[in-house]
This record gives sequence, C-alpha cells and structure tokens, in this order.
Amino acid sequence: MVHFVGAGCGAPDLITVRGAKLLSEADVIIYAGSLVNPALLAYAKEDCEIHDSAKMTLEQVIEVMKSAEAQGKTTVRLHTGDSSIYGAVREQFDKLIELGIEYDVCPGVSSMSGAAAALKAEYTLPEVSQTVIVTRMEGRTPVPEKEKLRLLASHGATMVLFLSVGLLDGVQRELMAGGYAPETPAAIVYKASWPDEKIFRCRLCDLKDTAEKNNVKKTALILVGHFLGDEYARSKLYDPAFTTEFREAEK
Ligand code: SAH
Repeated sequence: MVHFVGAGCGAPDLITVRGAKLLSEADVIIYAGSLVNPALLAYAKEDCEIHDSAKMTLEQVIEVMKSAEAQGKTTVRLHTGDSSIYGAVREQFDKLIELGIEYDVCPGVSSMSGAAAALKAEYTLPEVSQTVIVTRMEGRTPVPEKEKLRLLASHGATMVLFLSVGLLDGVQRELMAGGYAPETPAAIVYKASWPDEKIFRCRLCDLKDTAEKNNVKKTALILVGHFLGDEYARSKLYDPAFTTEFREAEK
C-alpha cells in the first residue's frame, strides 16, 4: 500500500493527524526533500527506510514503491503542502494503477493556506473578490494558451502565484497588461509557517524590487489583489438583518 501524504507547508505540527499517523507507521518514506521540512521525518519509525525524491526520477520513485510492495511494506510518499497542487502525483497514480499497486491520498495544508494565515488575510472578501485564481507564471514549464497570466488578470480576482518568484519581471508586466493597476496591493510570503518565514507587503509594480532587495529567490508565494487592501463589505451570513437557514433576521 502506498499513501500519498500532504506534509503541510512547513511547520511539522501542520501535518494532519491522519498524515502524522501514516508517517509513524510507514516502513518506507519517500519525501520531496527540496521543499518538505526534514523536521517531519521525526514522525518516522526508527528503522524506516527514507528516500529524498529531490535526487530521483519518476521511474526511481516507482521502483522504490514497487520493491517495498513486493516485501509487503507500507510506503508514504510525502509531498509538500497539499499534493493536488503542483504535486506531480497524477503520473505516480497512473504508474501504480498499471502495476496493480493500491494507493490512497491524505490531504495537507497547502502553502496557499499557510500564506493567508501568515498574512492574516481572507482571499474571498465580500464585494472585493469571490474568486481565487491559483496559477503560475510561464517559465520552463509551459502554460496553456488560454491560461496566460495576462488573460487571467482580466478578472481582477485574488491571485495566488506558485513557482513564480524567479519570474517577477514577467508577473508584473503581464498582470498590469491584463488590467491590474500598478498600485494593486501585493505580497510575497517566503517559507510560510517555517521558523524563518518572512512576509513582504508591497504594490504590484514593486514585486520584483521587493524580492530582489530582500533576496527572496525561492519557496515563496506571490499574492496579488484588493483582498490585501482595506475596503470590503460585511458578510451577509453574520448580518443581523439577514435571515439564514439557522437564524432569523433581527427586527
Ligand atoms: N503542493 C505545494 C506546492 C508545490 S509547488 C503546496 O500545496 O503548497 C512549490 C511551490 O510552492 C514553491 O515554489 C512556492 O511557490 C510554493 N511553496 C511551497 N511551500 C511554501 C511555503 N512554505 N511558503 C511559501 N511558498 C511555498
């Protein structure tokens, strides 16, 4: 059996209770060493076999799973944040299906949640934005034509950009060309929930300078949108004049 486990975005106590239990029971752990906090390996059994997938190919990862399976062992594949976001898990699932190896998935706290927590922000503010666009700037990995940043920008929605801190020139240019004002509030969250977490608030047009000045080159999320501003409307849900399924409006 292979368990895909979301490690959470950094702090070892941000893994789920289920994820921690699976880690503590695993015979083999394959963790994404480039991003997963190694402190999470403290949950592992003493005699657990541990592999760092940062140095491995998909084929090598599958080989480890296959050999563990043949010995009746349990494997945890530990991915950073939540594995459904830029986790490269689908290709692993499909290989395991081909091999007839059973697997399941345990969700994790994505860095997009970790970053919002660090900023004490709400992505979906009433009358500001009710949509979160999770995307990346095109770089060595291509992005489908209809998902170019410039097109996505036309919505003016909350934007969460993964894997893009090294491409901020393009991010600024494309978001502004697509319709965001240069002074749109923005933030860079470096290593959300790690001990060395850092938050930089700035304007969209200052993103690149802010990253350069503070030497942020990786493990950061870029957030853009008026959810970082000061204006919003109150929620209907908690409005005394609004009736909900659970509460009558006050007269
Ligand atoms: N599955 C992960 C994302 C993996 S892609 C998740 O759900 O968070 C790797 C990218 O995620 C990094 O380049 C960075 O943009 C972002 N990232 C991962 N961990 C982060 C953290 N602790 N703080 C800020 N960004 C992080």
